Amino acid sequence: MLYYSTNKQVEGIGLSEAVIKGLADDKGLFMPNYIPVLPDMFYRNIDKQAFRDMAYTVAYMLFGEDVHANMLKMMVNDTLNFDVPLVKVTDRIFSLELFHGPTLAFKDVGARFMSRMLSYFIQRQDERRDVNVLVATSGDTGSAVANGFLDVEGIHVYVLYPKGQVSPVQESQFTTLGRNITALEVEGSFDDCQALVKAAFLDDELNKAMQLTSANSINVARFIPQAFYYFYAYAQLKMISEEAAANMVVCVPSGNFGNLTAGLIARRMGLPVKRFIAANNRNDIFLEYLQTGEYKPRPSVPTLANAMDVGNPSNFARILDLYGHSHEAIRAEISGYRYTDEQIAGTMRTCRAETGYVLDPHGACGYQALQDGLQAGEYGVFLETAHPAKFVETVSSILNEDIELPEKLVEFMKGEKQTVPLTADFEAFKAYLLSKA
Ligand SMILES: *Cc1c(COP(=O)(O)O)cnc(C)c1O
Repeated sequence: MLYYSTNKQVEGIGLSEAVIKGLADDKGLFMPNYIPVLPDMFYRNIDKQAFRDMAYTVAYMLFGEDVHANMLKMMVNDTLNFDVPLVKVTDRIFSLELFHGPTLAFKDVGARFMSRMLSYFIQRQDERRDVNVLVATSGDTGSAVANGFLDVEGIHVYVLYPKGQVSPVQESQFTTLGRNITALEVEGSFDDCQALVKAAFLDDELNKAMQLTSANSINVARFIPQAFYYFYAYAQLKMISEEAAANMVVCVPSGNFGNLTAGLIARRMGLPVKRFIAANNRNDIFLEYLQTGEYKPRPSVPTLANAMDVGNPSNFARILDLYGHSHEAIRAEISGYRYTDEQIAGTMRTCRAETGYVLDPHGACGYQALQDGLQAGEYGVFLETAHPAKFVETVSSILNEDIELPEKLVEFMKGEKQTVPLTADFEAFKAYLLSKA
C-alpha cells in the first residue's frame, strides 16, 4: 500500500517511510491510496470472532503488503492484551470502555501499536539509526506514549510537560518509568511545550544529528489501529441484538479527531455504522464547521474534558480528504454537539443518579450527545475514552463521592519521579537534545 499526503504535493510513499517520518514533506498528513473493503462474510460472522482475530483481519487488509504476517499478528496481539467491553448504560445507549489498558485511556491502543510498528521499520532501515520520539503533553498523550514505547528497541522517548500543571496521577505515569523514557519538566505552559517540539522538527541541525519523529495521531501507525475497536463494538452489539447493530450510531468525544477519523476508515471498510456524532466541549471548531461550512481554528480554552481542548484539530485535513472536501457529504454522515463545563458536570451527576454509571468528563460529552441526538429506532455507542479515576479530583468533586483508584494507577504513584528540568527556551532544549545525540 502506498500513501499520499493530504496536501497533494507528495505521493507514492511506502508505509515504512510514512511511519518513520510522521508528517509528509509538504506538511500534509499521510493517507492510504485506497481503503480496502472487507467481504460480507466477515461481517456476517463477526460476532463469532475473538477481538484479536478480527483486528488482525483488519490490520492485514491495510498493512499486509508491508509487514510480514507473523510480525503483524504479534503487533496486534501485543497491542490488544486487554479487553474493550461494551457496557449497557440505558436501553439504547452503550459505553465502549476503551480504558482497560496500561494507562487507562484509549490512546494506549494507538501508542502500543505504533511503537511496535516503528521499531519493526527501524530495524529494517538500510542504515540503521535509532529514532527519538518527541511528545508534548498536557497529561494523557504523554502517559500512553511513554508506556506504549517503554523498552521498545531502537526508540528513545522525550516527554515534555508543563511543570505543576499535570495532575499527580498523570505525572506519575510518565515520570517514574526511566529506561528509554525521559520526562522533561518545562518551566512554562502546554503551548510552550508544543512550541518547543514544533521548533525541534523544523531545526535542520537537530534533524541532521538525530532522527526525530512525533507520536501523536498524525502518524498513520497510531491513528489507523484505532479502527480495530469500532469493529469490536459492532460485533458486541450484534451479539446483544441484530436490530440494534443494524441501527448503530457511534459517538466520539473528540479533540484532534484521530479517533473519529479511524471510525470513518472502519466505515469505508464496510462496517455498518449508520452515522457518527462528534462530541465536543467548548472547543467547538468542528461543530462550527458543520453549521457554517467554514473552518476557523482558534486558540483552545481550558475545560473539564482537557484532553479535548484543541483549537485546530490536526486530523480535520484527513476528514476533508476522505469526503473530497464536500461540506454536504461530511454533514450527511457526521453531526456534532458541544457542551460547557456546567453541562458536563450535570450529565455526570444525572447519569450517575439515573443509571449508576460513572462517566469521566470526556465520556460525558459522548453520552450526552447520544441523549440529545439519537433518533427513533437508533442505538448509540459512545467511546468512553478514559477511566474516571484518571480525573479523580474532578470526578469525585462533581459526584461528591470517593472514586477508587485502580491497582495500575496506585502502582505508578509508588514509583520515584525522575525528571530533567528545562526552561521554555528553544536553544536550551536543542543543546540538551544534541548532548544526547
Ligand atoms: C485524546 C483524548 C480524546 C480526544 O481524542 P482525539 O483522537 O484527539 O479526538 C478524548 N478523550 C480522552 C480521554 C483523550 O485522552
